[in-house]
Amino acid sequence: MIDTKTLTITELRKKLSAKEVTVREVAEVYLENIKKTDGGIHAYLEVFDDVLEQADLLQKKVDAGEDLPLLGVPMAMKDNILLKGRIASAASKMLEKYTAVYDATAVVKLKEAGALFLGRTNMDEFAMGGSTENSAYGPTKNPCDTTRVPGGSSGGSAASVAGDMALVAIGSDTGGSIRQPASFCGCVGLKPTYGRVSRYGLMAMGSSLDQIGPLTKTVADTEVLYNVLKGQDPMDSTSISEDTYSVSPEVKTVGVPIDLLDMEGLDPVVLENFQETLKKLEGEGYILKDVSFKNLSYALAAYYVIMPAEVSSNMARFDGVKYGLRVEGKDLNETYCLSRAEGFGKEVKRRIMLGTYVLSSGYYDAYYSKALSVKTLIQNDLEKMFADVDVIATPTAPTPAFKLGEKTNDPLQMYLEDIFTVPANIAGIPAISVPSGFASIEGKELPLGIQFFAPHGGEERLFSIGRICTGE
Ligand code: GLN
Repeated sequence: MIDTKTLTITELRKKLSAKEVTVREVAEVYLENIKKTDGGIHAYLEVFDDVLEQADLLQKKVDAGEDLPLLGVPMAMKDNILLKGRIASAASKMLEKYTAVYDATAVVKLKEAGALFLGRTNMDEFAMGGSTENSAYGPTKNPCDTTRVPGGSSGGSAASVAGDMALVAIGSDTGGSIRQPASFCGCVGLKPTYGRVSRYGLMAMGSSLDQIGPLTKTVADTEVLYNVLKGQDPMDSTSISEDTYSVSPEVKTVGVPIDLLDMEGLDPVVLENFQETLKKLEGEGYILKDVSFKNLSYALAAYYVIMPAEVSSNMARFDGVKYGLRVEGKDLNETYCLSRAEGFGKEVKRRIMLGTYVLSSGYYDAYYSKALSVKTLIQNDLEKMFADVDVIATPTAPTPAFKLGEKTNDPLQMYLEDIFTVPANIAGIPAISVPSGFASIEGKELPLGIQFFAPHGGEERLFSIGRICTGE
């Protein structure tokens, strides 16, 4: 009836309007897949109990001939994006019982576009991590090899798509949390230009870095979702209008940072696959150009100062008084301490401490101000490169999916995974990860991804080169 392995949004919509299937039938197929598969994967924290009711309501719109871009499309939602009336826990004990009192703007748009919400997906607590092992509810496993991580922090969303447990999924990306899991699970993942998608109703991690974006099987599906999600929003003062940037959509030249070759921790299988993919692009007529990304090696250090600084401030709201978990102490101060000690996991606490430290009056200039200067250097580097090339290519992650537990005791190793993704967040530019083939490791085929950066507002360029890579 429907083959969820190859199904796309366009195909599903055709089948629905031709009455080949009903929304309920499609929903049932996905619910069945979840039942069969998710026990061994744990992509979902919750599968909603009203999926079939939602399906029947959407079917009425199909029957009425409504033409909506996501009508009947079954999707999974990262657990840090608010859906009114449903729990949104950010995979934290702090918000275990927190029910959202409003819809995120992204959710309002998805609802208006006719989406069907299957459930909320597992993630690293408050989106802090790169493996989904920092969830307070246990890790997610990679559907391509269940001894390995799906990446993170949007690992549940990526695994739901890769495991055919959702047609598409929504994630958030502060330093690579959409793109790196996309690459580990063989999906397409987009981090839009900063401000293109409203952050209203997305739980803030690093407010100057966060963006909501799609995880899908094809670039075409990512484009459909992006077009639904984008738009200026009065509820998010950092959101921007359509005409803030005007960039031509054409891609002729692809910049390849020479500085990448001696990057610490770059796995040879990743480099080989990257070079092969570039060769293919050359064969398609693209011009490859060496570019110098001088400050690339400082991007990670700057990110791990700026992000925790913002984290430490954003996490202050979880105090046992206003939201979530409250552990009663003998006075208010003890209540704060007990609630936060109990509610937050190790990584969240580590970042709050780091952030508080770099913002403290004695160290502000040495760390936080320095990191902001590095941010400017990176922005300048990118601007110079984009004067010469239309997009810039890097591997998405320096390694294929790693084993569960392999990096949990060494946060710095875990942070190194973000080396290629963080520059896009620091500079606010859009970036996409698309599948670029596989690495055969221990008898398993592990997906790899190639990443492209475009200038602000250059999403169209990413779709056009992404399509060439996936052969769409
Ligand atoms: N892995 C990165 C981190 O831990 C990115 C997280 C994210 O994008 N939310 O900070």
